[in-house]
Amino acid sequence: MIRQQIIERGIHDERVIAAMRAIPRDRFFLPDARESDFADRAAPIGHEQTISQPYMVALMTARLQIASNHKVLEIGTGSGYHTAILSKLAAEVYSVERIKPLLDAAFERLLSLDIRNAHFRFGDGTRGWPEAAPFDRILITAGAPQIPEALLKSQLADGGIAVVPVGPADDQMLMEIHRAGDNLVSTDICACRFVKLIGEEGWAEQ
Ligand code: SAH
Repeated sequence: MIRQQIIERGIHDERVIAAMRAIPRDRFFLPDARESDFADRAAPIGHEQTISQPYMVALMTARLQIASNHKVLEIGTGSGYHTAILSKLAAEVYSVERIKPLLDAAFERLLSLDIRNAHFRFGDGTRGWPEAAPFDRILITAGAPQIPEALLKSQLADGGIAVVPVGPADDQMLMEIHRAGDNLVSTDICACRFVKLIGEEGWAEQ
């Protein structure tokens, strides 16, 4: 999976590849979805949510350029797979999820993998985690209708990087956003499709 789907498509960041090799992806699937473990696509994790395609996880993580002393905020814990990868690269990971059963399952998985530097919170991640801010990096793994400026300007460290899918519900642009003082400078990475980010700086709940 790592060689064919990630390295051969141009991701060569050694730390990201090592982190992905260290985390057993099959542990993050529902029992009846196990045949999708290493497939080249997103897969259902229940509650109408999905675990991202391995390549997308690698791409987003590589763009974040995480250093071992970084504090990272993740919005959209989902299965906890991406959280686990981040925990191998950063000093501390703070992950927020709005669906309680997903959060609980992710918490158990990371505990069983003996990961101690990931912290979890139930709620609307677009409000961030003010007590732990500022964050060197912010990763959003659900699609936002627009750049969540209030969150990034208040909780992303100056000089920090965020990776966020932004755009209409069925067609987003993955963006890399750098904070420089009060400015947010964004670069398009590629087209993508994520489940909706629902919350104060996201989509309204149906
Ligand atoms: N990175 C995850 C993929 C998660 S899918 C993985 O590796 O499995 C996106 C997740 O974002 C869903 O679980 C969804 O419930 C969650 N989400 C959507 N809006 C949110 C919000 N405002 N705050 C926290 N989580 C949110």
